[in-house]
Amino acid sequence: MNSMECEKLAELLFPEITMTPEDLEEKYPPRNLKEGARVTRFAPSPTGYLHVGGLFGALTDYMTAKASGGLMYLRIEDTDKKREIADGVSAIIEGFDNFGIEFDEGVTGLGTESGAYGPYTQSQRVEIYQTIAKSLVQKGLAYPCFCTADELSALREQQEQDGALIRGYFGKYAKCRDLTFEEIEEKINNGMPYVLRFRSDGDENKRIAFQDVIKGKIEMPENIIDEVLLKSDGIPTYHFAHVCDDHFMRTTHVIRGEEWISSVPKHIALFKACGYKTPKYAHTPQVMKIDEVDGTKRKFSKRKDPEAAVGYFIERGYPKEALTEYLMTLLNSDFEAWRTANPDKHFSEFNFKLQKMSASGALFDLAKLTDISKNCVARMTAEEVYDRALTWAKQFNPAYAEKLENEKDKAIGMLSLDRGGKKPRKDLAKWDELPETFSYMYADSYEPHFDLPEHVSPADAANILDMYKDLWAMDDDKDTWFSKVKSLCEPNGFTPNVKEYKQNPDAFKGHVGDVSTVLRIAVTGRTMTPDLYVILRLLGEETVKARLSEASAYYKTLLA
Ligand code: GLU
Repeated sequence: MNSMECEKLAELLFPEITMTPEDLEEKYPPRNLKEGARVTRFAPSPTGYLHVGGLFGALTDYMTAKASGGLMYLRIEDTDKKREIADGVSAIIEGFDNFGIEFDEGVTGLGTESGAYGPYTQSQRVEIYQTIAKSLVQKGLAYPCFCTADELSALREQQEQDGALIRGYFGKYAKCRDLTFEEIEEKINNGMPYVLRFRSDGDENKRIAFQDVIKGKIEMPENIIDEVLLKSDGIPTYHFAHVCDDHFMRTTHVIRGEEWISSVPKHIALFKACGYKTPKYAHTPQVMKIDEVDGTKRKFSKRKDPEAAVGYFIERGYPKEALTEYLMTLLNSDFEAWRTANPDKHFSEFNFKLQKMSASGALFDLAKLTDISKNCVARMTAEEVYDRALTWAKQFNPAYAEKLENEKDKAIGMLSLDRGGKKPRKDLAKWDELPETFSYMYADSYEPHFDLPEHVSPADAANILDMYKDLWAMDDDKDTWFSKVKSLCEPNGFTPNVKEYKQNPDAFKGHVGDVSTVLRIAVTGRTMTPDLYVILRLLGEETVKARLSEASAYYKTLLA
């Protein structure tokens, strides 16, 4: 087809498109950012599901932008209607809110967005894609293809018979590549559906090389496939939308999953055909896990692994920074050392480098996340824990939220137990552990459990408890409280002095630790708890006395 015919074809295919690529260049000029600032994007499909791998990728985008004084935006890739669910966008945005990642521009909610490079939802950019598509037709770089599904499968069979090394629509197999203008016009006038294909000038004997920021230099055969640019409904394929969007949104670094590496030759060819500079590519490794059953390393599976969805962590009440902190350690392995040296800084201040990312799979380790989470919770004040746990409970455990709200002082007191100081307790990783961790604090979750340490007899226990019931006073200060506990020792054959016990163990039944264990068991049903003095005060007179009596009565039944 000569250039006049190409012009005519472009008009025939896109009569309604009056915009030109130059108009778009003007509308979306290069961004005015400082030298070296990187523009990244996170571009999910609205599947309503934010995958841990997605969060990992988005964090990479975020850190790349932050560390360079650039920006990151959110683009919704909704051209594949099959993958879309009704409130998929909200679910994704909510997911990010939960994990403390903010976008500088792009989609901000259902039907809302901010920034000058929009629209940021692909389904609203059809005119842009068609403008570029039209210009490619004008230049003879794209053509309509009328092949039916049957014809395409016949083509595949033919290629199989031929033993063709490359499969797809190209060269001699590309039936519609050389249709004349008249043939096309006739088919269109007959209402035949068509897709728009790229006219590749690739040479299968040539190779292209590109420098992946994470994976290093990659070399692959040139693309020779006449890839579909627009589907029969005029909606672009991922490949074409990627090129148009990342050019006009002025993305400098395309950070995406490594499953896209094999498509890079196609993308480079398309950028070239459009006359655009190819952005830098950084392909992130897959997030992997060790399979619980056979111990092999494998990809996270949406079907098999509930923890593949970030919603899993939200439901269980992991503090939002725990997952991001953990993923940061997977992103750059020196993050941990930095965190130790800078315990109070926001993770975005870390000097992140794409080049430092591991090129192979990132192994997700739930135990390590739990550890990091415990550290995060240990750094919070009781009030902070209260607020966060309450917000969580309102959504996921309303009955517990009611408890927290009804007796706020008690809840704060409970959450203050052994908090702060040089060696804070690190036993809480997530909010859904609270009801069990502090089950003894509430009548309906308290489970009496009276087993005594081996060397304490039920008779001694009953005696200790009976004496203590009259001795304990709510208002005692801690020293008075402890001297009262000590005073229970001698009359019952125990020593208040642990050292003395160790020197002469046969002279005593036990020491003050055993006596307080008896008290602890009676009041909490456990042999280990945080500060018993505070627990007694939080439980209050009535409960303490009732539990002491109940335990004593139980031990007496053993004596009868
Ligand atoms: N929408 C694509 C996906 O969900 C994004 C790939 C990219 O970031 O370019 O896989």
